[in-house]
Amino acid sequence: MTSPANSGSGKEGAKPSGGPDGRPETSNFVEEIVAEDLKAGKNGGRVHTRFPPEPNGYLHIGHAKSICLNFGTAAKSGGLCNLRFDDTNPSKEDVEYVESIQQDVRWLGFDWVDRLFYASDYFEQLYQYAVHLIQAGKAYVCDLSPDEVRDYRGTLTEQGKESPYRNRSVEENLDLFARMRAGEFPDGSRVLRAKIDMTSPNINMRDPVIYRILRHTHHRTGDAWCIYPTYDWTHGLSDSIEGITHSICTLEFENHRPLYDWCLEQLGIYHPRQIEFARLELTYTVLSKRKLVQLVEEGHVRGWDDPRMPTIRGLKRRGYTPEAIRNFCDRIGVAKFNSVVDIRLLEHCLREDLNRRAPRVMAVLRPLRVVIDNYPEGKVEELEAINNPEDPSAGTRKVPFSRELYIEREDFREDPPKEFFRLAPGREVRLRYAYFVKCTGVVKDPATGEVTELHCAYDPATRGGDSPDGRKVKATLHWVSAPHSLPAEARLYDHLFTVEHPNDVEASRDFKDYLNPQSLEVLTSCRVEPSLACATPESRYQFERLGYFCVDPDSKPGAIVFNRTVALRDTWAKIEKGLKAKQ
Ligand code: ATP
Ligand code: MG
Repeated sequence: MTSPANSGSGKEGAKPSGGPDGRPETSNFVEEIVAEDLKAGKNGGRVHTRFPPEPNGYLHIGHAKSICLNFGTAAKSGGLCNLRFDDTNPSKEDVEYVESIQQDVRWLGFDWVDRLFYASDYFEQLYQYAVHLIQAGKAYVCDLSPDEVRDYRGTLTEQGKESPYRNRSVEENLDLFARMRAGEFPDGSRVLRAKIDMTSPNINMRDPVIYRILRHTHHRTGDAWCIYPTYDWTHGLSDSIEGITHSICTLEFENHRPLYDWCLEQLGIYHPRQIEFARLELTYTVLSKRKLVQLVEEGHVRGWDDPRMPTIRGLKRRGYTPEAIRNFCDRIGVAKFNSVVDIRLLEHCLREDLNRRAPRVMAVLRPLRVVIDNYPEGKVEELEAINNPEDPSAGTRKVPFSRELYIEREDFREDPPKEFFRLAPGREVRLRYAYFVKCTGVVKDPATGEVTELHCAYDPATRGGDSPDGRKVKATLHWVSAPHSLPAEARLYDHLFTVEHPNDVEASRDFKDYLNPQSLEVLTSCRVEPSLACATPESRYQFERLGYFCVDPDSKPGAIVFNRTVALRDTWAKIEKGLKAKQ
């Protein structure tokens, strides 16, 4: 079921076709439908889409797919895309979410210009539409309790039963509905239902509830209303009010489409076309807001912007770029069948983007002290280092070199296995941008046997990293000058879940049973090169040989914190794993 891209895409998936800038230009079945409608002269040549979040949580990478699709489809056909808050459930919604959603859509690189709308702005109009429906004999006030409504609805294999209140007169319904609005009845005591067909094979058509009584202050309309319209009533009508031409939504709404169409037909108003696509699922990730809320509220993560969260906030704090996310959304394509995308594809898109843009620096996560015995005490050389080999315009910088350095603890083995080419007693390696050094001595803690310091000799003729006598070394290590380096904290992240499909666990288990206890490792004694003294939050770097890192907002002057955005591919880890497997 898992695939690098979207295995379910079939014919309808992304079709690479080479865009003007050499990158593949993708088109998808939604864009094809829109193009056909345009060609057929529908909607007077207009294309108008919308992104309709409910403000009950932060946006996640799945929403990014929907945002890219809605804004992207409009942009590609010269159309418009609205941002509309689907705010009909005040008990779960909050202005915090209204604000964060706008910031996140903008951060992703999309602009609704002056087309920011709220379904709650249509409450009066939606109420009047409901009155029309009652007048047409197509809606009734039902006094069954919520449990009874459920019982009467039937099941997939069993027809529903008609409510005893179904045949109330239009007058009685109008009166009761007005009194529901006026607040005469307690919460949950009555609902307004569409009068459709209790025998329909589609359960959504069995007299669905379109208004409920709910006394809850709304973040925009305050206490003006004590009845609220349901999603099914609100969504299509809001699309119609805004003149949306193509209402793009996820597959679970396919079975709601007959109801979407029915409401618009009964009212005889402008009728947008609903198109469904498969929602994004990612391996090792949950994307349901209900589950993400639990992770936040129960403290399994530090908040909505925890860098392990698949939220836009989390990805941003982790160091993702909007370009990487948009490129990922392009590459996975848009399909009609649900499938799970391999999270490594997302990481691949990220590496590809950061490789182009991230300046290279040297940092040591687990430092091991190295003394170059034959290097003059007090001497400091400024060595030239390349900022980004992928981007010559990024230039070079100076990195100080001195007698005392730190290297990565794992770059030394006292007793190296055959395939380990880095530093070991008697062995020579290259220090990046600096010299060849040879390990001449090892200092250990007498109590624990732990290696605490290395002694090395450098070859002054190898400055810059090459030996005039053509001598070769098999490894190049990164390093920092001990007295010049700055202390730093590094937060290393791994998948939040230990299983590929945390949504798909045995009935007796919960997705939280599979939280990865090792998803965060904090290293507090890292050392980074001095050029990072003025690194500002959110700036991204490649730590040479280690991965991409980004400055966390928790950083303070003199106490800089880095998030590991994504590791570089580690070939040694692969070899070691292979070796272990052979043992
Ligand atoms: P909930 O989980 O609370 O039902 P939701 O994830 O559907 O909510 P909405 O705020 O209703 O969240 O989503 C806004 C839009 O984003 C909808 O059009 C929805 O279909 C789309 N969307 C949500 N999740 C995904 C996903 N995983 N992949 C693609 N689109 C998504
Ligand atoms: Mg939804």
